[in-house]
Amino acid sequence: MDGPSDDLYGRLRHECARRADDLWHVSRTLHADPELAYEEHRAAGLLTGQLRRAGFQVEQGTAGLDTAFLARAGNGPGRCVALLLEYDALPGMGHACGHNLIAAAGLGAALALHSVMEQVAGTVLVVGTPAEEQGGGKVALAEAGTFDGVDAALMFHPGVHDWSWAPLTAQTQIRVGFHGRAAHPTGDPTRGIDALAALIQLFNTTAVVGKRLPPGSHVQGIITDGGSATNVVPAYAEGLFGLRAATSTALDTLVADLGTWSEGVAAATGTTVSVKRQGSGYAHFRDNDVLSDRFSEHIARSGIQLTQPAGGVYLGSSDIGDVSGRVPAIHPFVAILGDEESDHTPAFAKAADSDRGRHVMLAAAEALACTAADVLTDATLSAQAWARLREKAAQGL
Ligand SMILES: [Zn+2]
Ligand SMILES: [Zn+2]
Repeated sequence: MDGPSDDLYGRLRHECARRADDLWHVSRTLHADPELAYEEHRAAGLLTGQLRRAGFQVEQGTAGLDTAFLARAGNGPGRCVALLLEYDALPGMGHACGHNLIAAAGLGAALALHSVMEQVAGTVLVVGTPAEEQGGGKVALAEAGTFDGVDAALMFHPGVHDWSWAPLTAQTQIRVGFHGRAAHPTGDPTRGIDALAALIQLFNTTAVVGKRLPPGSHVQGIITDGGSATNVVPAYAEGLFGLRAATSTALDTLVADLGTWSEGVAAATGTTVSVKRQGSGYAHFRDNDVLSDRFSEHIARSGIQLTQPAGGVYLGSSDIGDVSGRVPAIHPFVAILGDEESDHTPAFAKAADSDRGRHVMLAAAEALACTAADVLTDATLSAQAWARLREKAAQGL
């Protein structure tokens, strides 16, 4: 392997290992005190406190998000590597996505790198990214220019698989409203134009054409307004549709398709329809395999073998997508539980505070630190990572 000397890797691993108890304490503190998206004040306070004491320059409230932060440590000119820390929890389930482990591993990598900066030129940027589960802090941070000048964005995610990456779909939400005409359903049935019936027709249409969507494309709808009384033909009905697709380009196609289906249903039922995209959604994740392969080599030293993901499996969406289209990024999954389980469950929350969770967090901290050092010290590797990003972007992958 090119890059830093074995001596530097050894130092980084040692710097992580000697902080093991402290990092585990941070992880357990976050786990015991879960905070929801955009409300992670104590988590942000705990993490920025650690970084400040180590000598990082800390800015809080980045991109207008109260619980986002940046912490920077640098040593002259050179490349900049970002470590991404998530720390939001799930309603009613605590840390059932294990973001406490993501935060502790990223913190450990940052502190280890800080200890060797006299040996390494460049900048370490720790990015506190709130609200992964709901809202997408990284989308706002990316749009605010947080990743301008960054050469790599690194994080890991605990999971039920040992995969160097996984397909994470692009996603958005579409609100579809049908306008009909109210009438008494028995007193004046021929005047009524049933907007709810039109919406139900759209669900049926979606079920039919949904079978032939490309792999990764998926539509899941709910009815958000289905009328208010059984003795009135609904004049208005509204549904909210979650759309996902393997790539952002495929998602745009699916959005256009849903518009076409809605117009078709409106024409058939005599209603009118409005179709509106809600918010910006998430871009798909573009794995930088130049860097995720490096991460895999490094974490193998801790006895964890990452493989390519199983074919045809999509693990939902994440706001890392919007980062990965801008700069070389990695988002490997490291198992803290067997694949008979899944995340977002009580069992996963327990695993995020288990001995296995601790082992994975420390292994990930070491592998993140070593991969970050590769980016900072190896110009060829960094150039290859950028070339890979451009190549994938040109293909829309
Ligand atoms: Zn998560
Ligand atoms: Zn999650």
